[in-house]
Amino acid sequence: MATITLNRSNYYHNLSQFALKTGSKDKIAIVLKDNAYGHGILEMAKLSSEFGLKRAVVRKVSEAKLIDTLFEDIIILGGEVEPNPKYSYAINSLEQLKALPQDVKIELKIDTGMHRNGITMGELDEALEIIKQKEINLSGIMSHYASADELGSEYFYQLQNFRAAKAKTLEAGFKNVRFHIDNSAGAIRCSAFEFDLVRLGIGAYGYNHMDDSFDDFALKPVLNLYAKRVATRALEKGQRVGYGGEFVAPKDMLVSTYDVGYGDGWRRGNALNPFITADSGAILGRVSMDFISLEGDKEEVCVMEGAMSAARHFQTITYEITCALHADIPRKIVD
Ligand SMILES: *Cc1c(COP(=O)(O)O)cnc(C)c1O
Repeated sequence: MATITLNRSNYYHNLSQFALKTGSKDKIAIVLKDNAYGHGILEMAKLSSEFGLKRAVVRKVSEAKLIDTLFEDIIILGGEVEPNPKYSYAINSLEQLKALPQDVKIELKIDTGMHRNGITMGELDEALEIIKQKEINLSGIMSHYASADELGSEYFYQLQNFRAAKAKTLEAGFKNVRFHIDNSAGAIRCSAFEFDLVRLGIGAYGYNHMDDSFDDFALKPVLNLYAKRVATRALEKGQRVGYGGEFVAPKDMLVSTYDVGYGDGWRRGNALNPFITADSGAILGRVSMDFISLEGDKEEVCVMEGAMSAARHFQTITYEITCALHADIPRKIVD
C-alpha cells in the first residue's frame, strides 16, 4: 500500500509561524476535523500536543473522543451534542440554542457575512437573552470568514460585524468569553492579531492559499505521498499500458506499477493530461483503483511532495487533495 509521511519539523515550523503572529501557542486551536485534513487525526493530534498546543477543533464528537486526552479544550463544529466539560459546541441557530440540554458548553456562531451557518447579527440580542435565562455556559463567540484568502472588502465587512458582536456581548455583561473569527487566511492577513484564538487549519498543514503579496508568510507542506513498486515489465515501442490502453510506449522502455490508485483517494484525472509525480515523471495511462504506472523500476516513488502540485493540476484546492486520502493508508512521522 501507499505510504504518507508527515514531516514533524515542517509542521512545527508552520505552527511557530502562527504562534509568532498570534503572540502565543495558547491562541492556536488546531483544526483536526476530517481526519486532520486527511493527514491522520491521531498522528497530528499527538504532534500538536507535543508542540504544546492545548486546543483543537473537530467536526464531530466521535473525533473529539479520539483525541481528548491530549487537549484541554475541544471545539466541536457540528453533529450530536454530548455534554463534556472539555467540549464546546458551535451553535448555529436560535432553534439549536433553545433545544440545548443542560450542562453544555457552547461557542455561539454568528453569521457576519458568509451566509452559511450561525445566527444573524439581528438575532444576537435574543440569543444572549436565551443564554442568560437558560444559564447556558457561553464559552465563546465565533464567526467564520467567507473569503479571507481573497483580496477585497468582504473581509473588512465581516470583521466590522464581528467587532460589533463582541462589543454587544461585553455590554450584555458576559465575562470570560473568548472571541474568534480567524482561520489560517485571516491570521495571515491581519496586520496585528486582534482576537483570542485562530482556528488554524490549512496553514498548519503547510499551505498558503493567499494572494502572492502574502508569499513572505513561508509555510512548509507536512505531507508527502509515496507508493511502492508492485511489478516491472520491459515494453516495446507501440505497446499500450493500462485500461483503455491510453498510454502508447513511444520507445522501448521499462514500466512499473506502483500501489496507489483512486481507491486510496488519489485522483483518477485524465490520462491525456497526466499528473507529473514528484520524482518519477508522468503517470502513464489511466489511474486504476489500486495502481498507477510509471517509467523505470525504482522501489519506491514519491507521488506528490505536498499537495500544491496536485491541487494545481486537478484544478482544485489543497484541502480537497489531502482530505481525499484514505484513513487506512499508513502514516509515518519523519523529521
Ligand atoms: C475548517 C474551518 C476552519 C479552518 O480553516 P482553514 O482555512 O483551513 O484555516 C476554521 N473555522 C471553521 C469554522 C472551519 O470550519
